[in-house]
Amino acid sequence: MFKKVLIANRGEIALRIIRACKELGIPTVAVHSEADTDSLHVSFADEAVCIGPAPSNESYLDPRRIISAAEITGADAIHPGYGFLAENADFADMCENSGIKFIGPSAQVIRDMGNKSRAKEMMIKAGVPVVPGSEGVVESLEQGLAIAEEIGYPIILKAVSGGGGRGMRIIRAKEDFETNFQMAQAEARGAFGDPSMYIEKYIENPRHIEIQILADEHGNVVHLGERECSIQRRHQKLLEEAPSIAIDPELRQRMGSVAAKGAKGVGYFSAGTIEFLLDDDHNFYFMEMNTRIQVEHPVTEIVANLDLVKEQIRIAAGEKLDVRQKDIEIKGHAIECRINAEDWEKNFMPNPGKVEVFHLPGGPGIRIDSHVYQQYQIPPFYDSLIAKLIAYGRDREEALARMNRALDEFFIEGVKTTIPFHKKLINHPDFVSGKFDTGFLDRVDLLKETK
Ligand code: ADP
Repeated sequence: MFKKVLIANRGEIALRIIRACKELGIPTVAVHSEADTDSLHVSFADEAVCIGPAPSNESYLDPRRIISAAEITGADAIHPGYGFLAENADFADMCENSGIKFIGPSAQVIRDMGNKSRAKEMMIKAGVPVVPGSEGVVESLEQGLAIAEEIGYPIILKAVSGGGGRGMRIIRAKEDFETNFQMAQAEARGAFGDPSMYIEKYIENPRHIEIQILADEHGNVVHLGERECSIQRRHQKLLEEAPSIAIDPELRQRMGSVAAKGAKGVGYFSAGTIEFLLDDDHNFYFMEMNTRIQVEHPVTEIVANLDLVKEQIRIAAGEKLDVRQKDIEIKGHAIECRINAEDWEKNFMPNPGKVEVFHLPGGPGIRIDSHVYQQYQIPPFYDSLIAKLIAYGRDREEALARMNRALDEFFIEGVKTTIPFHKKLINHPDFVSGKFDTGFLDRVDLLKETK
C-alpha cells in the first residue's frame, strides 16, 4: 500500500479522499491555494502545502507545483479527485515520470477518452453502440454539411476537446449550419484551445444514464448499476439518483455488460463511468467515458454498498478487485442534490460569501459530503458546489421523503443556495412520477410554477 497520498484537489472531494485514506491507514497531504488556507481539507489532512495564489492555473491546475509538493513531502501517490487535473493525461505522465503513482487509469486511456471522437471510434471497436455521427473530426464546412444531411437534422455539433457541458450546439435546419459551425469552432478554440468539431445525431429528450464500472490492472471489470442524471441545466447535472426509474433489471444487465465490455476494450483500470443517452424505445448510445471519480459517485456507493474511493486507491496500489460481478447487488434507492452557492431565482448566479449559519440535517438515511462550516468564507475562484446532500431509503418513495425532510432541516444563511430549487424540483408531479428527461428543466419553469 502507499506510504502517503497527496490530494491534488480542494473542497468536498478533497475531504472525501482524505476520509478514504484515513480508513485505509494512509497518511495524507493536502495542497491548497492562498484562498483556501482555512479550508477543512487543510485541517483534516496530516500535512498541508500551500502551492500558490488563488487563481487555479497558479495553484490547483499547475502540475509542477503539485509534483513538487509531493516530492517535498515524500508522497508516493497522488489522487486527483474530479475537475482540475483529474483528466489531464500530461499530468498523469508527469506523475509516472516522477515515480509517483497517479490514482486513476493510464495516461494513454485518459488521452484516448479525452478526445471525444477517438473515444467513440474505440468504443465502436469494443462493440459499444454509439450515437450516429461523423467518423472522427469534421474537416471542413462542406464535409460537415454533407454529414449532417446524411444523418438527418436535428444534429448536435460538439467540440472534440469539450467538457463540462460546454462546446455544444444543436442545429435543427440546414440553413443554420454554416453560422453555427463557424461560431462553434471559434468558441472551442477560445475555450479549449482546439477548434475541432464532430457531429452527432441529436437525440430528442433522451435520458442521461451512466454506468459506474470498476476495473483492476489484472483484467477484472465489474459494473455497478446505473445513475440517472437527466436533471440538468445547460448540460450540467443538478440531481442524480440510483437506480433509474426508467431501467428494468434486463436493461440494467445489458447496459452494464456493454459498459464493462467497453472499459475492457479500451484497456481501462480504476473507477470509471460510461455515459449513455437512452431513448424512449430503450435504445442506448455511448456518449463519453469519464476517467475519474465523479461528483455523483455516492449514490452508487450506497446502492451497491461499496466505497469507490477506497477501491480506486486499492486498484492503484496494484491489488485485485475483491468483488465479483455475481456478488454485486443493487439495493434500495439513493438521491443526491447538489447544493450550490447560487441564486436560482437569478439564473443560478454564483453567490459566494460568508456562511453565517450552517446547520446540517441528519437522521436515518442521510449522508452529507461537504467542506463547509459556520463562518466559512466561500471563495469566488472555484466552483459553487458547497454540499452534496444524499438521501437513501428502501425505495424511491422513502428516499424522496427523507430528502424532503432533510432539505427542510438544512439551514444555510449568508449565501443563497440551491436548497429552495431542490424542494420545488423533488415535489414536481412529473419528477415524482419519473416522467422526465434531459429537457425537463428547459420545459418546466419551476420558478414560475411556484409563484
Ligand atoms: P460534456 O463532456 O460537456 O459533459 P456530454 O457529451 O457528456 O458533454 O453531454 C452532456 C449533455 O449534453 C448530455 O447529458 C445530454 O443532456 C446532452 N447531449 C449530448 N449529446 C447529445 C445528443 N447526441 N443528443 C441529445 N443530447 C445530447
